[in-house]
Amino acid sequence: MTRIDDLPLRDELRGKTPYGAPQLEVPVRLNTNENPYPLPEPLVARIAERVAEAARHLNRYPDRDAVELRTELAAYLTRTTGHQVTRAQVWAANGSNEVLQQLLQTFGGPGRTALGFEPSYSMHALISRGTGTGWLHGPRRADFTIDVEAAECTIAEHKPDVVFICSPNNPTGTAVDAQTVLRLHDAAQAAKPSMVVVDEAYGEFSHHPSLLPLLAGRPHLVVSRTMSKAFGAAGLRLGYLAADPAVVDAVQLVRLPYHLSAVTQATALAALEHTDTLLGYVEQLKAERDRLVTELRAMGCEVTDSDANFVQFGVFDDAHATWQALLDHGVLVRDNGVPGRLRVTAGTPAENDAFLDAMRAVMKENN
Ligand code: PMP
Repeated sequence: MTRIDDLPLRDELRGKTPYGAPQLEVPVRLNTNENPYPLPEPLVARIAERVAEAARHLNRYPDRDAVELRTELAAYLTRTTGHQVTRAQVWAANGSNEVLQQLLQTFGGPGRTALGFEPSYSMHALISRGTGTGWLHGPRRADFTIDVEAAECTIAEHKPDVVFICSPNNPTGTAVDAQTVLRLHDAAQAAKPSMVVVDEAYGEFSHHPSLLPLLAGRPHLVVSRTMSKAFGAAGLRLGYLAADPAVVDAVQLVRLPYHLSAVTQATALAALEHTDTLLGYVEQLKAERDRLVTELRAMGCEVTDSDANFVQFGVFDDAHATWQALLDHGVLVRDNGVPGRLRVTAGTPAENDAFLDAMRAVMKENN
């Protein structure tokens, strides 16, 4: 049998494992930061209508520039952040992972480096590797906030080509304040200049306003967003960015032609028509997230403040054993490898109750 390592693989891929949380059949799955609410029926019907219309033209390639979709995404950002965004400033792809990949293909690559503050979204490092971009670990404080002075030193020393700032950060839930972003941005401009990518995949769940207004007058700043979380459409695969129009022109140098299928574009447009309903679910999830924080603290857990649809909690002598114990109670959470900590996604009230009951039982078993 041929093994991967028998193939003439790129050196940096040897011995590596693909990204992926376990997809286990468990009653309560709170491990991948999905939105627990299925799309409402009127939206499902509207998707069917719009996809049927798109299907009548599937003999043709889709709109390569996704003009209608980018117009609606720009309108959504303008409406929800109060910051005027135009279609020329928006780009869309198959999930924000693809957006990030296109950014690294454009601004990273062999001989270049990207910096992230870890623990953070592990795909930043993996997409860097996949695009041949060197990866640099930036520091975080013990409370998982970014130590600005230490970060400025790292940027000055290593002069990265791309700096990732994940806010709210996955897996910790920590939001980054505008002042910190500006200081890191300025440090990155003084050092190189480089591109600063703010990953706001969980932006809609934050207690704080979006960092999007910082784009004004900063052509090297990019904000990345997704419909996977707030829009409850992880299966759709639709991510997007907002930036200076020059950045949108630049990523088109690397995007595959017709990368965004007509079916995807039609589905995303239908979802955007139902924004208000979907953002109503976000409000419910924010309240549930806050309840998880309060109840876990009441149990004696150390819980990181969360601005996302998930909560990081601990501290456990053996986080993996606690992960397994919760699984034995039918609840799947995530072990991101952060020492002593686990991460739970806010689910429906019933799912969260099941998780909290399982936690109480596990804490009792351990005492
Ligand atoms: N950024 C962050 C911080 C994430 O947690 C995720 C998904 N887990 C993504 C980007 C990618 O999401 P998607 O490709 O579904 O848009």
